[in-house]
Amino acid sequence: MALAALVCLGAGVLAGAEAHAGPPTPKLLPVDPGEDFEALPEEGLDLPAPAPAPEEAKKPAPEKAAPPAVEKVTAPEKAAPPAVEKVTAPEKAAPPVVEEAPPAPASDRPARAIARPSLGPAAYARRRVLVVGLDGLRPDVLELVSTPNLDRLAAEGAVSWDARAASVTLSGPGWTTLLTGVEADKHGVYNNAIKPQSDGWPTLFARLREARPDARTASFVAWKPLYDVLLDPHEVDDRVYHSVDRVVVRAAVKELATEDPILTFIHLDGVDKAGHKHGFDPRLRAYKAAVEVIDAQLGELLAAIGKRPNLAREEWLVIVTTDHGGTGKRHGENLPTDRRIFFIAHGPTVVPGPIEGTPSLLDVAPTVFAHLGVTPKASWKLEGDVVAVAPDKAVPTSATAAVHPVAAPTP
Ligand SMILES: [Zn+2]
Repeated sequence: MALAALVCLGAGVLAGAEAHAGPPTPKLLPVDPGEDFEALPEEGLDLPAPAPAPEEAKKPAPEKAAPPAVEKVTAPEKAAPPAVEKVTAPEKAAPPVVEEAPPAPASDRPARAIARPSLGPAAYARRRVLVVGLDGLRPDVLELVSTPNLDRLAAEGAVSWDARAASVTLSGPGWTTLLTGVEADKHGVYNNAIKPQSDGWPTLFARLREARPDARTASFVAWKPLYDVLLDPHEVDDRVYHSVDRVVVRAAVKELATEDPILTFIHLDGVDKAGHKHGFDPRLRAYKAAVEVIDAQLGELLAAIGKRPNLAREEWLVIVTTDHGGTGKRHGENLPTDRRIFFIAHGPTVVPGPIEGTPSLLDVAPTVFAHLGVTPKASWKLEGDVVAVAPDKAVPTSATAAVHPVAAPTP
């Protein structure tokens, strides 16, 4: 079916948090220099002592270390799903005007060696990719909240809790870097006024279309500029935008249940919204609650893959990451708490365990291409590396289900 026109508007039946439905939430909120967490009502600190230095924190593997003391936080009650209605294809909207970010340093990473596929086309025909971007999720919060789905992907797959955001820690540069595989000095996006990249540094979707014109692709996003500007309808078969994560997830679950996308990108924004409203801080109740909600939504996506009728004949690479952290109620600086992100990869081609070095958003594109058996051209000038996967690892058919990341979804 054509989900391209499935843009959902349900503000009339929404309550509470869904009051955000409508214009996209600005990604960079005004700075309130006088603000400090101690003054926050209700959402204030729920740990008496300052949190440990986030840069040093590593999420302990559940079976290796005692879990940290966790204050249980009740996730917000789920409201009734908003009504979905079809609307006409949107016109290109002008990018939001935002503050200028500090100039980014030029990328210091040279063009990397090109990974060439060594298996036959039949092997790669089994491959599928789901990239999930959880906007504004600081990795250190994951030590303090219950996130069974992220935990399982990390425990069974490859993970870095100390990965790097793009050179500018705003959503525009971050997602553009993830989707193009190059830094801001190439794609030219230094703030949230993102630009089309079709003629300059095409996205994963455009490159995949070029390499495999028959490959179905899909994107489900909660930030409108991605939908309006970066994810070109000529390059992505199914495109869905809604400002409410729950609606985005529902549309994605339907796609994963009924269609056969080779590459699917999902962007969820609830944690970033909580960060801008209450603070990007692992000690804050509201921020932690948003992380728990988004983990459950990730679980819905994984469950949808787990139920696919042909799952035993498919090899899914699932990558989950974020575009930046945050400090106070904002992000965009070259601070450890803004730049440090997590990078999780999971699937039968993934080499489990810690990811060596410091992976970054630049590494998503080469890794996706390697899994799919797409050889990047030198002219693409991809700046990242293949990480976490051994893409030419052939998985016997009978073993696929047993090693599949999402065959046994966590409720
Ligand atoms: Zn963001």
